[in-house]
Amino acid sequence: MSDVMERELRSDSSACEEFDVLIVGAGISGIGSAHHLQTQCPGKSFVILEAQDGFGGTWRTHKYPGVRSDSDLFTFGYRFKPWVGPPIATGAAIQEYLEEVIEENGLDKAIRYGTKITRCDWSGEDRKWTVETANRDGSPGKVYRCNFLWMCQGYYDHENPYVPNWPGMADFKGKIVHAQKWNDSVDYKGKRVIVIGSGATAATVIPAMADDAAHVTMVQRSPTYFFCYPNKSDLVDRLRLIGVDDDTIHRCARLDYLHNLKMLDHRSKEEPDVVFDELKALVRQYAGEDFEFEPHFTPSYRPWQQRLAFVPDGDMFVKIREGKVSAVTDKIAKFTEKGLLLESGQELEADLVVAATGFNLSVMGGIDFTVDGKEVDWSDTVTYRGMMFAGVPNLVWVFGYFRAAWTLRVDLLGDFVCRLLNHMDQKGVHEVDIALPQGSEGDPHKPWIEDDNFNPGYLMRAVEDLPKRLGDRPEWRHTQDYWQEAEDIPAIDLDGPEFAYR
Ligand SMILES: Cc1cc2nc3c(=O)[nH]c(=O)nc-3n(C[C@H](O)[C@H](O)[C@H](O)COP(=O)(O)OP(=O)(O)OC[C@H]3O[C@@H](n4cnc5c(N)ncnc54)[C@H](O)[C@@H]3O)c2cc1C
Repeated sequence: MSDVMERELRSDSSACEEFDVLIVGAGISGIGSAHHLQTQCPGKSFVILEAQDGFGGTWRTHKYPGVRSDSDLFTFGYRFKPWVGPPIATGAAIQEYLEEVIEENGLDKAIRYGTKITRCDWSGEDRKWTVETANRDGSPGKVYRCNFLWMCQGYYDHENPYVPNWPGMADFKGKIVHAQKWNDSVDYKGKRVIVIGSGATAATVIPAMADDAAHVTMVQRSPTYFFCYPNKSDLVDRLRLIGVDDDTIHRCARLDYLHNLKMLDHRSKEEPDVVFDELKALVRQYAGEDFEFEPHFTPSYRPWQQRLAFVPDGDMFVKIREGKVSAVTDKIAKFTEKGLLLESGQELEADLVVAATGFNLSVMGGIDFTVDGKEVDWSDTVTYRGMMFAGVPNLVWVFGYFRAAWTLRVDLLGDFVCRLLNHMDQKGVHEVDIALPQGSEGDPHKPWIEDDNFNPGYLMRAVEDLPKRLGDRPEWRHTQDYWQEAEDIPAIDLDGPEFAYR
């Protein structure tokens, strides 16, 4: 059967299920978005399609030792569901929190697991998306139709992590595992372990392995800023002691963390050296007063230009002080039979190499899109506020924050999408397109984010594949500025010239 015939057969309306809204992904974004849809647009029918066999996204797929958040859960948790644990949470605790949200909102019946979306076709005539799926075994799955697509598929490829192609990897007699592919069969007890990388994942997995491994060596190409702090909030403890209820504590703690984060963000630009001195003082509380920051802990960029790696209770630095962990800053020349040869000529022996080398960015979950038969090339589209895209109707992508907790944007965009859907109902329209501003024809289409603003490797490797921003107009980019967006997004005029309704 030809592709076209097969597609026609599968799109046969009798084999289709139809919903007002289709949410892609049952991670923290999809679950939060479903809550907002259900509470703010109670009449809308919806379904959540999830490729995995369970909910949680990142928090389900990542299983390496010690996996935890590096945001506090008062802001990484939802606005509507109080967090009652310690600020930095284990992956398991986040999963429990999400499970409670699913149960409390009766969302389990709306989620279809093992359903990977492969293709979405918009028909302007029907004002509907046709969504094709694949089953767990790769066979073609059910076809869905919906009026609105709420893209909550995250931003990275869950199947294929980023592993640089180092020479000699096949010669290494030990085991190599990427943190994203960790499973229970990986044994590190009594082993000499090398962790390649120095971001949040490395800072998590290293202290978690340090007591059981023979030794853990962190091999990094370049240093990272670490923010050591006790995993507790004095404000929360005090409010709890005097009998304040969980909802109020959650609201206060959220405001407190947001204020502190805003100050840190601002001061990192205004007085980066002072901020670094403060970060050093915090590290010394755990690593010891004579701890040396050169050369392994002095980054070449200013604080917050890449995500700061939070180290609760300074655990990684405690293990360095105890001699269980050491750091090496060098480039890898090649793998050898016994370990790594570094460009300086130093050789490191290992039984296990853990690659904490990050992600491959995935634009729109690897799904093929067409609009009225024309393939969508996302790198050719222009974004409206990093959530909608000119030329692609009835679709929002929940792309969160890098410097603040991702989920803050789930709540903000949840309100926005529901307001938009209700507005469309009031107008009696079924399609919303994004119209570029008049007179913008000559404006350059620039990369999604400037590299002097935020430049982690996974973003820079794929920034050309992402939609473009329009010049430097704040409405036509993802500003990554929660505090500004918290004012701007609720104030968006839905009858403004950016929105073309049909
Ligand atoms: C180990 C780790 C720790 C992190 N810690 C933090 C933190 O502390 N703070 C922070 O702000 N950010 C953190 N992040 C970033 C994190 O990914 C996001 O904050 C957040 O979890 C993303 O949620 P999400 O639901 O948008 O995406 P994901 O968690 O990626 O979930 C997306 C879901 O969509 C599904 N999906 C994707 N494509 C398809 C498709 N084609 N069809 C069907 N389903 C699909 C996936 O299977 C997945 O379940 C961390 C990331 C990692 C890897």
